Amino acid sequence: MKIHLIAAARPNFMKIAPLYHELKLYPQYDIKIVHTGQHYDANMSDKFFEDLQLPKPHMHLGIGGGSHAVNVGHTMIAYEEVCTKEKPDLVIVVGDVNATMACSITAKKLGIKVAHLEAGIRSFDMTMPEEINRKVTDSIVDFYWTPSIEANENLVKEGIDNTKIKLVGNIMIDSFEMMKEDIKIQGTYKQYDLEPYNYSIATFHRPSNVDSIESLQELLKQLGMVSETLKVVIPLHPRTRANLTKYNLLEELESNNNIIILEPLGYKDFMNLVLHAKLVLTDSGGVQEETTYLGIPCLTFRDNTERPVTVWEGTNTLCKVSDMKKYVRVILENKYKEGVIPLLWDGNTAKRIRQLIGSLESI
Ligand code: UDP
Repeated sequence: MKIHLIAAARPNFMKIAPLYHELKLYPQYDIKIVHTGQHYDANMSDKFFEDLQLPKPHMHLGIGGGSHAVNVGHTMIAYEEVCTKEKPDLVIVVGDVNATMACSITAKKLGIKVAHLEAGIRSFDMTMPEEINRKVTDSIVDFYWTPSIEANENLVKEGIDNTKIKLVGNIMIDSFEMMKEDIKIQGTYKQYDLEPYNYSIATFHRPSNVDSIESLQELLKQLGMVSETLKVVIPLHPRTRANLTKYNLLEELESNNNIIILEPLGYKDFMNLVLHAKLVLTDSGGVQEETTYLGIPCLTFRDNTERPVTVWEGTNTLCKVSDMKKYVRVILENKYKEGVIPLLWDGNTAKRIRQLIGSLESI
C-alpha cells in the first residue's frame, strides 16, 4: 500500500514521526513523507527531522510562505502533480495547517482516500485560520482519527458517520515517549544556567497576541512582572520576532536580565526545558497537550482552546494576558490544580493507527 504522510510546519513533524517509524516496521507499506515547505528554515524544520530521526522528505514541494490563498493554491497545484505521478492509495494529513486542507482537497478530488489524524478538534472560533482548515478537512476526508472523546462528539454533531470516526489517542504523546530518554539527558536547562523547577518557559505566536503593538506591549509588561519573581525563557517564534522588531520592542525585551531570549529550539531542547520548568506560558496548541501529559502548570493566553480536555482534566487554564501575574502567583504559592492524563494519551497511538490501516487493506 502506497501511503503519503503530509507535513508542512513545525507542529506537524512530531505528529508524523511516530507514525512513520511504526509503519516502516511493516514492509507492506511503501511510506513517503511529503514536505510542502511552509516552514523551511533549519530551526523550524530540518532540526525536527534530525531530532525525530526522520529521513529527508521523499518529496519537497518548496511552497514557502505567502498569503493563505497563495500558500493553499500553490500547495494544491504542486501536490496534484505529485499525486498524479505517484498514485498513493492513502494520504494521511495531520493537524490543522494550510497543507492539511490543501492536500486533502487535492487527493480527494483525484479519488484518493484521505485520513485526518487529529480530526474533530474545534475552537468554535472561525477567526482562527486553523479552525477553517479543520472544518474544511473534516467535511471531506474518509477516515477520522481523533485524540479525545469530545473530538468524536464534535464530528458526530457535524453529521459525520460514526463508523468512520476512531478515537486513536494523542500522537504528540507518542513523540514524547519515543524521545523521552534522549530528552532527559539533553541537559538544555543546565546549558542556560537554569535551576530546575525555578523558571518558566514562554512561547507566543498567535496573531491575537503578537500582531498588534498594543497586545505586544501588554505581553511585555506582564512578562516583565513575572520575571521579577521567576526567570522567563522565550524561544522566540519568527513571527513574534518580526513583529517585535517592527514595533521597536525587541530591545526592551532583551534588556531584561531575567528574560532569556532564544532562537526557536529543536524538539529535544524544547521538551527538556518544558520538563524542568515550574510553569509554562503559551498560546500554542501542542504545548497545552505536552504540559497536561507531564503534569506541568500551563497558562494559555487565548479566549478559547480546541483542546478543552487539557482544561477539564489537565493542567491547563485559559487566561487573559492582563491576568498573567495573578495566575503565576497562584502557581508559585502551590495553590494550582493538579491534572490527570486524558484517555489514550499513552504513547500507543501510532500502533492503533497501524492496526486501523491494516484493516483497510482492500482500499
Ligand atoms: N516546539 C519546539 N520548539 C520551540 C517551540 C515549540 O520544539 O521552540 C514544539 C513543541 O513540541 C510544540 C510544537 O513545537 O508542541 C508545536 O508548536 P507551535 O506552538 O509552533 O504550534 P501549534 O501547536 O500552536 O500549532
